[in-house]
Amino acid sequence: MKRYFVANWKMYLSVAKSEQLIRQLIRYERGNKILRDIEIIVAPSMLALSSVSALVKQSRSKIKIAAQDCGIADAGAFTGGISSSELKKMGARYVIIGHAERRQFFNEDAMMLSKKISAAHKAGLGIIYCVGETQDERHAARAGEVVREQLRVVQGVTPALIAYEPRWAIGTGLAIEPHEAEHMHASIAREVRGVPICYGGSVNEKNIAAFINLENTRGVLVGSASTTFVGCSEMLGRMSKIIQAKAI
Ligand code: PEP
Repeated sequence: MKRYFVANWKMYLSVAKSEQLIRQLIRYERGNKILRDIEIIVAPSMLALSSVSALVKQSRSKIKIAAQDCGIADAGAFTGGISSSELKKMGARYVIIGHAERRQFFNEDAMMLSKKISAAHKAGLGIIYCVGETQDERHAARAGEVVREQLRVVQGVTPALIAYEPRWAIGTGLAIEPHEAEHMHASIAREVRGVPICYGGSVNEKNIAAFINLENTRGVLVGSASTTFVGCSEMLGRMSKIIQAKAI
């Protein structure tokens, strides 16, 4: 069973630093056969995507590239827009859609997300669709309902991955309790059958094992902890040990 490690570099790294980190990851992945059951997906900033992707391609690495966003249409009068088919040509295999930061800071609503999903799907990009509730929604016992509503946006298109990322856990150092993540993942699995589910929200080398051990979890989406080589290699090392132990 394939496992996923999605590294979302957000806007943390310059182009030069992104290139440096991908070179280190390529070397690490090449020298570690134990990583073969893990699909490593790196989402560099939009400005670094082309060069990071070229480095992966030149080295024939198995690392996959994701875009952090895409436009609502593929071409035309959309100043600042991002064409999904051009992303694909640049080497992106996936695109992250519905990330909490896009919903919060760029007011991306269901209508806009469904246009992005349709553009990405038409271009042949795998969709990594993010869902998750706010702290208030969790306190009001509305987390399940909110996530179900967010999942309605991907009806009709099968995403490559669903990332459950409680908004209050992103970038705060406050990861959700693993059993609560498992509860949500089981409910997502009932809604979107057969789609791998990853957990995201303050994952790091200390807590990754608890999430990888969950029954309905196929991987993690990691933000800040994935922006250093030490962070990535420690998390991948721990992840692969658990996968190997489970395989015995
Ligand atoms: C994210 O980028 O989706 C994320 C989970 O960030 P962090 O790991 O920094 O909380």
